[in-house]
Amino acid sequence: MRTLVVGAGAAGLWCALHATEHGPVTVIAPGAAELTATAWAQGGVAAVTEPQDSAELHAADTLAAGVGLCDPDAVRVLVEEAPLAVQELRALGMAFDEGERPALEGGHSARRVLHAQGDASGRELHRFLAAQVAGDRGIDRMDGRVVAIASDGRVARGAILGDGRSIEADRIVLATGGACGIFGRRTGPDTSIGEGLVLAWAAGAALADLEFVQFHPTALDVPGKPARLLTEALRGEGATLIDVHGERFMTRFHPLGELAPRDVVARALIRVREETGAPVYLDAAGVSDVAQRFPTAVEQCREVGLDIAHVPIPVAPAAHYMMGGVLTDVWGRTPVSGLFAAGEVACTGVHGANRLASNSLAEALVFGARAARAELGPPPEPPAARDGSFREPAGGLPLTEVRELADRTLGVRRFGPELDALVDRLVSAEHPQGDRVATLVERLMAEAALRRRESRGGHFRVDFPEPQAGWRVRQAVDRDGWWAIPLPEPEAARTV
Ligand SMILES: Cc1cc2nc3c(=O)[nH]c(=O)nc-3n(C[C@H](O)[C@H](O)[C@H](O)COP(=O)(O)OP(=O)(O)OC[C@H]3O[C@@H](n4cnc5c(N)ncnc54)[C@H](O)[C@@H]3O)c2cc1C
Repeated sequence: MRTLVVGAGAAGLWCALHATEHGPVTVIAPGAAELTATAWAQGGVAAVTEPQDSAELHAADTLAAGVGLCDPDAVRVLVEEAPLAVQELRALGMAFDEGERPALEGGHSARRVLHAQGDASGRELHRFLAAQVAGDRGIDRMDGRVVAIASDGRVARGAILGDGRSIEADRIVLATGGACGIFGRRTGPDTSIGEGLVLAWAAGAALADLEFVQFHPTALDVPGKPARLLTEALRGEGATLIDVHGERFMTRFHPLGELAPRDVVARALIRVREETGAPVYLDAAGVSDVAQRFPTAVEQCREVGLDIAHVPIPVAPAAHYMMGGVLTDVWGRTPVSGLFAAGEVACTGVHGANRLASNSLAEALVFGARAARAELGPPPEPPAARDGSFREPAGGLPLTEVRELADRTLGVRRFGPELDALVDRLVSAEHPQGDRVATLVERLMAEAALRRRESRGGHFRVDFPEPQAGWRVRQAVDRDGWWAIPLPEPEAARTV
């Protein structure tokens, strides 16, 4: 059994390490660690490791964050297997910050977020996994990009690289990360534009939950500079959000103030910016030992000439995480036999409408390992009935325009008529030099957002500001059109 892993973040590297049990393994991805979101992660890995915590509590928190759209089976797999992944990592020599107890993060009812090297957890996890893969395990690590999956729509047999070479494999695992790179304001790598989504789509797989994007409220807002993330843990340690007059405002919007859910804080920030016509600031002057405890935040602010220990930092929301992705079962399988997806590119259903903080590295590890072990078939069967269908676009829009449109129309607040106009613009985008991948991803995201006539989790419609019971369904799409995936009743979903 030959395995080809596409992508070298947490999901791809962990998958590759597990796939060696079944035969030869090749990992293909551009070389640099900075091209993975994994290396950018600051918080850590959510896993139950404390006696007073439990899988049931972790599941309940995950389901609550997902606002009724999580797949309870996928959630059960995540919460039960995340501690096993941590145990396995420790056995291999990964050093989590052992002296400290796991951290408490927003939305978690117990301490369960494991850090490594403080707020550089992702960089440390990536360094460790990359070293394991480079070690003496016979994994072939290739530098390059996959531009197509060799598939007849039913069975995948390999991949085609950007330089025209092809690689045959029995198992192809897409671990290509998320798609927030289609936004101008994003906290992650520029290159995460959803290539894996389009590879899977073109091979005959389906995508789901595309309307759900998590916007992080506190990303740097300095004109002309990247929107670097300023971790929520700063607010957990007492940093406040203030307007241009120095007034705190979050208590107006939510009883939890600065620690309200991310979507609530993001909308409040935009509202206050509109009210005052001026930026909003994160004031961390009251956080003790900020330089020692938040070296990444300090460095990111220093790079733009700001000293977070002494001056309020201008912040605004930025696209941070894609809840949607390639629709898979709990083994990472798609309807195309031999084609799997794991990590942020996949949509197992664990996040529903909103991701619980630090569940994504856990997901990458748990489902990366599963994709390495899963039987090749039978893959999940898609339903016969669809709504609408797609003409494959021949071109696209330039990436700068895709990003400008996403920021303007697909951001924290969405409005039906604007989404409608955006879809029209993207459907007719045929520029031969345009970015076909980013344009298609944005078009599917915009259509999903337009179809969902309610607000829930990461998706907020100003024209439908409340959740609607009738919308407790997931939306999926493939080249033959859209369909709805029904979910069990909430009570059943909670007995995980
Ligand atoms: C600033 C920031 C902070 C975060 N903090 C946390 C946190 O504290 N805890 C948490 O759980 N999550 C966090 N997240 C989210 C988390 O980092 C990601 O969801 C997770 O790392 C995704 O891992 P992955 O392996 O799926 O993808 P990635 O780590 O993004 O890796 C994708 C890989 O695929 C490659 N690739 C893409 N396209 C192709 C192609 N066509 N051919 C070949 N290779 C390709 C890329 O180059 C890369 O190697 C954070 C994200 C950001 C941006």
